[in-house]
Amino acid sequence: MGNERNWAGNYRYGASELHAPDNIEQVQELVARSRTIKALGTRHSFNGIPDTDGSHLSLSKLNRIVGLDRESGTVTVEAGIRYGELCGYLNDNGYALHNLASLPHISVAGACATATHGSGNRNGNLSTAVRALEIVNADGETVALSRDGQDGGFAGAVVGLGALGVVTKLTLDVVPAFEVSQTVYENLPLSQLEKHADDIFFSGYSVSLFTDWKDTAINQVWVKRTAADGQFTPAGPELYGAKRATQPLHPVPGQPVHNCSEQMGVAGPWHERLAHFKMEFTPSAGEELQSEYFVPRDQVYRALGAIADIRERISPLLYVSEIRTIAGDELWMSPNYKQNSAGIHFTWKPDWEAVRQVLPLIESKLEPFGARPHWAKLFTMEPSRVQSLYPKLPDFRELAARFDSQGKFRNAFLNRYLFESYNG
Ligand SMILES: Cc1cc2nc3c(=O)[nH]c(=O)nc-3n(C[C@H](O)[C@H](O)[C@H](O)COP(=O)(O)OP(=O)(O)OC[C@H]3O[C@@H](n4cnc5c(N)ncnc54)[C@H](O)[C@@H]3O)c2cc1C
Repeated sequence: MGNERNWAGNYRYGASELHAPDNIEQVQELVARSRTIKALGTRHSFNGIPDTDGSHLSLSKLNRIVGLDRESGTVTVEAGIRYGELCGYLNDNGYALHNLASLPHISVAGACATATHGSGNRNGNLSTAVRALEIVNADGETVALSRDGQDGGFAGAVVGLGALGVVTKLTLDVVPAFEVSQTVYENLPLSQLEKHADDIFFSGYSVSLFTDWKDTAINQVWVKRTAADGQFTPAGPELYGAKRATQPLHPVPGQPVHNCSEQMGVAGPWHERLAHFKMEFTPSAGEELQSEYFVPRDQVYRALGAIADIRERISPLLYVSEIRTIAGDELWMSPNYKQNSAGIHFTWKPDWEAVRQVLPLIESKLEPFGARPHWAKLFTMEPSRVQSLYPKLPDFRELAARFDSQGKFRNAFLNRYLFESYNG
């Protein structure tokens, strides 16, 4: 089987075959004997980052939980597991992950490979939870790397973009299980962000702003709060001029609200509130395109103001925009590398011809803020610009060459944005 499409249906892969091995030995054997091969997760990326003209390798059958280590506060999983499969187990055992993306449907390995994130000023992206990982390199050998190890390269390998090999196991930090309550507010004037951006993003453990850019108001503010000392104080009726919603809401107007995680301030387990969408329903809008750019968190008001200048161009093509915050990290290829960030995200209607005309305008508006594009979403930025945003790229290239001297795991996307040098 080959020529699969991605989840959104906007990208058809060029792979000639798709393997789904039953065990790690089969992964090693397939990698060793292939000329070109690429790991495929749950296909939720919007661009060619998982593509290959050789073989695709899905770890969907390697999705077991290897073990929970209460002493070290970690869980080890096989790389094909999806967050939705892991979270219930952790919660049943009294543990949690520090954060989740908007949807639980994605594989842990695929999410970490692209620095997938949720929200929260103090929350690093999902790959910051990785304490150790095992990778099958181009020779078919398994290499183990850990955060505390002396091996070097761990900080480069975690957000590996699929370029180093096939991740087969990950060990993730866990924290004690916690409860979250989710309250949605409506109509936050954008001007409130000028003075109060920090207060607004600190008003919960994880905060998301949604706007359709039809005017300069933020349509919805989703505030996910944790209980202090086991007690939830009731969420106030107002948040900087935004009013508490009187019924549950979907971020995309007109989409079914039962697809969303519970709101209205009702407390519940972390994994049933941190993602916006429930595992058993379609996340987001379904047929859609996505783009996202990361700017320094303390520049978010100015960056949104720059986008507001072109909102008439954006709004007709858009389902919704979401603004989240992500704590800075030390992972070389993370867009949050050494930078507390705000992610400015766009869920587009499925009209690539029109969207591709608008992305350069957004990118030029965000250029003064050093915006880095999300690795797994759609962008039109020149490769030279992308490369200039990653100071550790030369080290990453060396690391990739150590794991894959022949370029077995490379593809057109990786060559263009990482490996081919551009002089401007
Ligand atoms: C509806 C929707 C909502 C989304 N919400 C968010 C969000 O809230 N936050 C956010 O940051 N992103 C979000 N995304 C983007 C998504 O998180 C990323 O595309 C993520 O990479 C998807 O993981 P995946 O398992 O589908 O990986 P794939 O798309 O299948 O692959 C992504 C990359 O991971 C690599 N990879 C996969 N498995 C392995 C492995 N075992 N070893 C080595 N490399 C591997 C692939 O080679 C490829 O480079 C969303 C996407 C959709 C469709």
